[in-house]
Amino acid sequence: MTTLKAITFDLDDTLWDNHGVMARTEEGHYRWLLEALNAWRAARQEPALGLSPAGGGNDYLQRRQQLAREVPERRGDFTWLRLRALEAQLEAEGLPRSAALLWAAAAMNEFHRLRVQVTPHPEAAGLLAALTERYQLAAITNGNIHLARQPLAAYFPVAIAAGELLAPKPDPTSFLTALSRLNVAPECAMHVGDSWLEDILPAQQLGMHAVWVSATGDQQLPPRVHRIAHIKELPSVLETLDKRR
Ligand SMILES: [Mg+2]
Repeated sequence: MTTLKAITFDLDDTLWDNHGVMARTEEGHYRWLLEALNAWRAARQEPALGLSPAGGGNDYLQRRQQLAREVPERRGDFTWLRLRALEAQLEAEGLPRSAALLWAAAAMNEFHRLRVQVTPHPEAAGLLAALTERYQLAAITNGNIHLARQPLAAYFPVAIAAGELLAPKPDPTSFLTALSRLNVAPECAMHVGDSWLEDILPAQQLGMHAVWVSATGDQQLPPRVHRIAHIKELPSVLETLDKRR
C-alpha cells in the first residue's frame, strides 16, 4: 500500500451546499443588471429595456445553452458563456456594443460577488486545517466560483477551475494538472467529491483513491473508492487507510 500524500477536493456540494447560493446568485445578478441599467437609462431620458427578470432571465439561459452547443469546448466555462450571452442579449435590446460589453461585465462582477457567499459546512475549515498538517491539498471544481475569494481558499494552494481549462470533469485533465502541480503520483492521492460521474469515476480510473460524499448509494464500490455521507466522516476513512498500510 502506498502512502497518501495529497487530497484533492471538489467544492460545490462537497464542502458546502451550493443550491441556495446558486439560486440567489442566478436571480440576484440578473435583477441587479436590469435595475442598474434601467436606472442609468432613466437618467439619460432613455426608456427602460423590454426585459423582465423572468422573461429576460429565461432568454439569458437559452442563449447560454445555445452558445454551449455552438462552442462545445467552452461548455464548462460558465463565466465566458454568461458574459457572451449577456452581451448578445443587451445588443439585441439595442445597446451599442461598447455599452453591452461594460454592462455584461458589471453584471458578472455582481454574479461573482454573490457566488462566493457560500457557507462551508461548519466542520470544513477545521478538517482542512488538520489535513494540511499531513497532506498537500488542492481544489478541483467545475464551477465558476472565484477561487481566490471563496471562504476556504487559504487551504488550497493549488486550485483548478476545470471549465476554464476547457476540460470540465469527468475529463481527466484537471486531475492530472492538480497531480502535476502537487508533484504526486495518482496512487498517492485521493479525490473527494459528491459526483459519481464527475468526481469519483475519473479519479478512480486514473488510479487515485476516491471518497464519494453521498448520503445514499448502496452499490458495490470499485477498488480504492469509499463512501461517506458527509465531509466530517473523512478522517475515519483516512484512519482506515492508515491502518491498512
Ligand atoms: Mg460537486
